[in-house]
Amino acid sequence: RAKDEGGNEHFSYEPSMHADAEERRKLESALRDAIGNQELELNFQPVVNAKTETVVSFEALLRWNSAEHGCISPGKFIPLAEDTRLIVPIGEWVLHEACREAARWPSDIKVAVNVSGEQLLEPNFSAAVVRALADTGLPANRLEIEVTESVFLRDGRIARQTLEEIMALGCSIALDDFGTGYSSLGYLRTLRFSTIKVDRSFVQGASQDNQESLAIIRAVVAMARSLDMSTTAEGVEDAEQAALIRELGCTKIQGYYFGRPMGAVEARSLVVKGRSRAA
Ligand code: C2E
Ligand code: MG
Ligand code: MG
Ligand code: MG
Repeated sequence: RAKDEGGNEHFSYEPSMHADAEERRKLESALRDAIGNQELELNFQPVVNAKTETVVSFEALLRWNSAEHGCISPGKFIPLAEDTRLIVPIGEWVLHEACREAARWPSDIKVAVNVSGEQLLEPNFSAAVVRALADTGLPANRLEIEVTESVFLRDGRIARQTLEEIMALGCSIALDDFGTGYSSLGYLRTLRFSTIKVDRSFVQGASQDNQESLAIIRAVVAMARSLDMSTTAEGVEDAEQAALIRELGCTKIQGYYFGRPMGAVEARSLVVKGRSRAA
């Protein structure tokens, strides 16, 4: 395909479908060994209170630095992990690591962990949450689980039931990438999300000359308020966007402007700095 055509002097007569399948198989086998080979790492991106601009939580974002393939973006390996169900052990690792790190932060800072539909459909998912909390000593109310609308597509009943179990533990649930999924709002009526995360496509589209994105954010904020949920604007990259988002009334802001995803050490120093009792 495109990558084989551009400027490659070694012509390959292999049908590209075969090459793709071969590459995928290699990647899959490398991913299978990624945990054992210690190639996975968590980054943490700060989320700030829109009014005070102080850090209220970090979102844990998975990174894979493969010895064989280099750094591979989550946009590429997460779908592969989901297709192969490798997301189940990988997701457990993420949960454990995120809770372990968060337990070292001041007690008013939460951690948010992304969870795929495949994980929610596992019968033992809430048990894995219980185990991660118990092993690390992180109080349940400091763990937020992020899901996208797509988790309700395949087996909405089971996903909902699992999320309710997790809420019963004291964890909160955020609805990620809001506005990009399928548009049935039924699940908002029956599941008490704590936060709706407005997808960055709306945030980055928002400006005085894009009234449509502004109108959508305004509507999401109003809806969240009346449902007693907070809102996080994703993908805020500059002061102008931050000011606009604040004006629109979003509760929290996440984006490169306030901090890129960073290593655990850097994240920790951001929140323990200046505090008398650093963990
Ligand atoms: P997400 O959960 O919506 O995470 C936010 C993504 O937006 C992250 O991409 C983050 O680096 C990026 N981002 C944050 N601020 C900005 C900004 O100001 N500008 C731009 N352009 N981007 C920004 P990342 O880390 O590449 O992750 C992509 C997606 O991969 C995540 O989207 C999430 O869906 C998935 N993912 C990452 N880690 C995990 C994980 O541990 N488990 C699961 N199931 N999915 C994960
Ligand atoms: Mg997320
Ligand atoms: Mg998101
Ligand atoms: Mg996203």
